Amino acid sequence: MTKNPFRGLPSVDELLRLANEADEQVLATSGHAAAVATARDVLEAERLRLAGGSAGLAPASLAEELVGRLAVLSAPSLRRVINATGVILQTNLGRAPLSEAAIKAMSAVARGYSNLEYDIETGARGSRHEHVRELLRRATGAEDGIVVNNNAAALFMVLQVFAQSREVIVSRGEAVEIGGGFRIPDVLRQSGAILVEVGTTNRTYARDYASALGENTAAILKVHSSNFRIVGFTASPVLSELRTVATQGEVLLFDDLGSGALLPTEQFGMAHEPMVQESLAAGADLALFSGDKLLGGPQAGIIVGRGDLVARLRSHPLARALRVDKLTIAGLNATLAAYVRGHATDEIPVWKMIAASSDGLGERAASYASADPAGTVGEARSMVGGGSIPEEGVATPVARFAVEHPTALARTLRGQDPPVIARIESEQVVVDPRTVDSTDDVYVVAALRSAIRYTNNVDLENRRDV
Ligand SMILES: *Cc1c(COP(=O)(O)O)cnc(C)c1O
Repeated sequence: MTKNPFRGLPSVDELLRLANEADEQVLATSGHAAAVATARDVLEAERLRLAGGSAGLAPASLAEELVGRLAVLSAPSLRRVINATGVILQTNLGRAPLSEAAIKAMSAVARGYSNLEYDIETGARGSRHEHVRELLRRATGAEDGIVVNNNAAALFMVLQVFAQSREVIVSRGEAVEIGGGFRIPDVLRQSGAILVEVGTTNRTYARDYASALGENTAAILKVHSSNFRIVGFTASPVLSELRTVATQGEVLLFDDLGSGALLPTEQFGMAHEPMVQESLAAGADLALFSGDKLLGGPQAGIIVGRGDLVARLRSHPLARALRVDKLTIAGLNATLAAYVRGHATDEIPVWKMIAASSDGLGERAASYASADPAGTVGEARSMVGGGSIPEEGVATPVARFAVEHPTALARTLRGQDPPVIARIESEQVVVDPRTVDSTDDVYVVAALRSAIRYTNNVDLENRRDV
C-alpha cells in the first residue's frame, strides 16, 4: 500500500498557529473568520497539488502562503497611485484629482448629517437639486442646470426625455465611440431615440441637417469629437449655424461637449477646447459635460441651458434614478465656487497642472533625472486626456531614463507603494512632473532610485516575462 500523501498536511488550527508566528499583524487585521476560510483554501489547493502527484510543501511554506493571501485580501483594492504619465485626465487613473476645498466640503458632509433635502428655514422637505442650481448658473451663465451621475447618463436622460421614439439628427463624423465602449449610436438607441445620420465621415454641412428635418424630428445633437480628430479635407458647421437650422425646423439643439471647459485653454499654450459659455451663447438649448474632466470636480454629468427644459428634466422620474449623492454635490459646489470667485487656476488641480510653469517643471524633472546616471531631462508633451483637445497636449520638460529594459523598470515602478505610473516613449521610461503633486517629488525620486537599482540587479536575461 502506498503512503497516504495527505498525511503530512497540517490542520487548519495548526496552519493558523504557524501563520500567527510568521506575521501576527496580518492575522489580527484579517479577522478570525477570514483567516479560517483562507486557511481552508490554502489546504484545499495543497490537496489538489498532492493529488496531482506533486511533492508537498512544508507547513511553514503553507503558512507563508496563507499570510500572503491574507495580506492581499485585507489591502484595499482601490489605492492611491502617483500619476507620472503626464496625462492629466486619465480615466483609468480616476480622472480629476479634487481641490482642497472640494475634499474639505465632501469630508464635512460625509462625517455627519446635512441639509441635503431639507429646508433649514421652514423645517420642510427641500430638494437636493437646489444646492447646485445657483452656482451652475453663475459659473456657466445658463438659465438653469441639473446634475446627474455622469455625462453618459446626462446624454441618455436628455435623449429619453425629449426625443423618445423621435428622430435625432447627428453628423456621421460625430456618431462615434468615445471610449470604454461608449458609443453615441448605442446611447441613442437605448434612450429610445431614432438616430438620423447626416453628411459624410469627413464633411457635414448645415444644409445636410436642414434636409434631414422631418415631421418626427425632435432634436439636432452635436457631439464634441473627443479622443480622435479627422484631419485634412473636413467640414462641420459651427453651432450657431445649427441654431439657425434648429430654429427653422422648430427642433431642439443639444451640445454634448464632453469635457466642457469653463476657462480658455489656449491661454496656456494649448489648442482651444470648446467652452460651456460659448455653447450657450451660440444657442444650444442644452449643453452637457462631465464633472470630472476639465471642470476638475467629482464624477458627474452636468446639463445646463434653457430653464423650461431643465425644469422638465428635474421633475422626470429618471432624475431620481440618475441622481448624485451628497458627496458629489458638496464636491461639485466647492469646485464651481472656485470658478465663480475667479480662483480656478490656483485652486483646482487640473488647472494648476495645465497652468504649471515650464521653469518649475524643468527643475522638478531635473530632480527626478538625478535619481540615476541613466536619467536626463528632455522635452515631451503632456496630454490633457479625458477626450479633450485630441493629440495636441502641452510642451513639458520630463525626466527620461535610457535603461536596458524600460518595460521592466516601468513595472518595478508600478510595484512601489504607492505605485508610480510612468510612460514609455522611444524605448525610454518617461517620468512627467506635470501630473505629479509636488509634495510627492521626494518619494518619486526615492522610488526611481530603488526601482532602477532593483532592475539593474535582477538577472533580466533569465526572466521570461521581461
Ligand atoms: C467623456 C465623454 C462622455 C462621457 O462622459 P462621462 O462623464 O464619462 O460619462 C460623453 N460625451 C463626450 C463627448 C465625452 O467626451
